[in-house]
Amino acid sequence: MKGTVYKSTGSWYTVKTAEGEVYDCRIKGRFRIKGIKSTNPVAVGDVVNFDLEQTGDTTFGVIHDIEERINYIIRKSVKLSKQTHIIAANIDQVFLMITLNNPKTYTIFIDRFLATSEAYDIKTVLLFNKIDSYKEEELDEVRYLAALYRKIGYTCLGISAKEGKNVEQVKEMMVGKTSMFSGHSGVGKSTLINAIEPSLELKTAEISEQHLQGQHTTTFAEMYDLSFNARIIDTPGIKGFGLVDMEKEEIGDYFPEFFALKQDCKFNNCLHVDEPQCAVKEALEYDEVSWSRYKSYLQMVSGEEDTYRFDDFDE
Ligand code: GDP
Ligand code: ZN
Repeated sequence: MKGTVYKSTGSWYTVKTAEGEVYDCRIKGRFRIKGIKSTNPVAVGDVVNFDLEQTGDTTFGVIHDIEERINYIIRKSVKLSKQTHIIAANIDQVFLMITLNNPKTYTIFIDRFLATSEAYDIKTVLLFNKIDSYKEEELDEVRYLAALYRKIGYTCLGISAKEGKNVEQVKEMMVGKTSMFSGHSGVGKSTLINAIEPSLELKTAEISEQHLQGQHTTTFAEMYDLSFNARIIDTPGIKGFGLVDMEKEEIGDYFPEFFALKQDCKFNNCLHVDEPQCAVKEALEYDEVSWSRYKSYLQMVSGEEDTYRFDDFDE
């Protein structure tokens, strides 16, 4: 039998088949995925093959195989160990929610997030929320940022989760797909999800409280079916993506507009920093590449620990 993992507790997995039947499954023996060292071999979003087994009058599934992932996101526990935990797999898109104030989303945060999602190979849509509350100058700033990121190739949309503005468009983008929502605390994720599907209650707040109490419990993602043929992955306590190990040399490859110019740089391993005849720096002079993107890039390349870590946990 084949199904998708909707929930995992670490030892039990809730698996749903295409027909909508739900089974509790375990993993067979010392089952491991080749090539990935992680604390959990199977994650929410994985497509698995399983057999049904019976003990007494309870039936459960035994997962014996997992299908190749299109992508997956990880969390590295810095405090406990260097172990990797796979948060979720097979994510079609992530909506990054951005607000200009209350809270302010800085471009460095957006750019790190986008580079990480490029590295993970996950499509990102930028949602500029709270447009109902902005003054004209602030709306100009939203238009400016949206144009900047659209030019690079990212889909951008101004919305008001509170007033329902463009929420229908967000729903349309979600049809037939598995989505995640990210962004700083307070940007309006819960409000938007509530506008999208009022009956759905996600657990973000609940888990944050646990974190505040100092219980370092591993938080598990959970997937939900929505009423309009869409799926959502809730990642309690995780606001962004985990850490990605990026070599200095590859960061530029996750800035699509830099990557497109790389072939025109004199050196094929150009870092776009001090090298002569650098196509990225030339494009900066002509405003073909934005200074704010370049500044974010320099910060990431400079390799300060913080530049890789961006508020991804509530703790
Ligand atoms: P979360 O932490 O990302 O889940 O954010 P919430 O959904 O809890 O929203 C944080 C605050 O922003 C709440 O007071 C919401 O009412 C408010 N908020 C959310 N969306 C909007 C919006 O579109 N416009 C305005 N003006 N306020 C909003
Ligand atoms: Zn260069």
